[in-house]
Amino acid sequence: MKYFLFLNHPKGEKIYKLSEKREYILREYFKSVNTITMPLEIEGKVYDCVVDYTVFSNLANFDCFNCQDPCCADNPSIYSNETRNLILNNLELYNTLTKNIEILNENEYSFEEIINHIKTSPLMVPEETVEEEISLCTCSFKPNNKSTLCSIHSICLKNNMSTEEIISSKPLVCNLWPLDIIAEDDLSKLYITLPDDFTTGFTIEDYYDTPCINKELTKSSTFRRKNPEGFYEKDYVPVLIAYKETLIHIFGKEFYEKIKENLLKENLLYPEDFQEYKEQIFKNI
Ligand code: SF4
Ligand code: SF4
Repeated sequence: MKYFLFLNHPKGEKIYKLSEKREYILREYFKSVNTITMPLEIEGKVYDCVVDYTVFSNLANFDCFNCQDPCCADNPSIYSNETRNLILNNLELYNTLTKNIEILNENEYSFEEIINHIKTSPLMVPEETVEEEISLCTCSFKPNNKSTLCSIHSICLKNNMSTEEIISSKPLVCNLWPLDIIAEDDLSKLYITLPDDFTTGFTIEDYYDTPCINKELTKSSTFRRKNPEGFYEKDYVPVLIAYKETLIHIFGKEFYEKIKENLLKENLLYPEDFQEYKEQIFKNI
C-alpha cells in the first residue's frame, strides 16, 4: 500500500510505501469501523474510496498563527506548474515573504538561474541549497519569530484568489493535512482517515505530536514549553466544520453532505455544531 498524498514526494517510495506491519494494522482497523464507500473525483481522476467518516467528528484547531510546530519543515511534494506560475507572477511578494531570491543571490546564483530553478527544479531551488541555505519547506516563511506559514497560501490571499484557486495552487497534501489517504498499490481503492488514538499505528503523521488535532497535547508541559500560551480549548471544532470548504472543493459537496448526515444520525455531531466558523483557509497575516 502507499500513502496516496505522498506519491509526489521528492524522496519517492522511501516515504510513500507502507511497511507490512502498518498495512496489517490498517486492514484490521478498516474491518472494525463503520465506513462509507463512494467514488470520489480527486484532481480530475475518479477513485473508489472507503471513508472512515466518524473521524470527521474529531476536534481540530488549525491555529497556525499561534503554533511553533514545524509542520512545514520539509517539502512534501514536487511542485506543480500552478505553484510555479503563481510564484513567477508574484516574485516580489514571494521574495519579501521567503527571502529565497536574496538567499540564492547571496549564494551567487544569477537572477536567470534562480528563475530557471523556479521553472524546472523539483523543489524550485537548487538541490544543494534545499537543506542548508533555504531549509524548511521552500515555500514556508516566518511572519515573526514565532510561527511558520505558507507563502503560496499568503500570496493567494493577498491576490484575493478564490478557495478553488488557493487549493489548486498548493500541494494536495498541504490542503488536506493532517488527513491521511492510503491507497492500494494499483490505486484501485483509497482509504480516507485521520490520525487519532486508534489510527496512529498506520497513519503517516503521528497523532501524539500533532497539536491541531490533539487537544490533550496542547495542555501538556512539553507543548507549553514551546507554545506557552497553548491553544484555546474553545477554538477546537469538529474537523468536518474546520475543513468544510476544503473538503467540498477537493472531494465534492456530496462527500461533505454524506458525512454530515451520518454524523448527525449517529449523534456524533449536533445541528448546533454547524454554526458560523471562520476557517483557517481564509485567515490572513
Ligand atoms: S501543527 Fe497544525 S496548527 Fe501547527 S502550524 Fe501545523 S497545521 Fe498549523
Ligand atoms: S503548506 Fe506551504 S509551506 Fe507548508 S509544506 Fe505545504 S507548500 Fe510548504
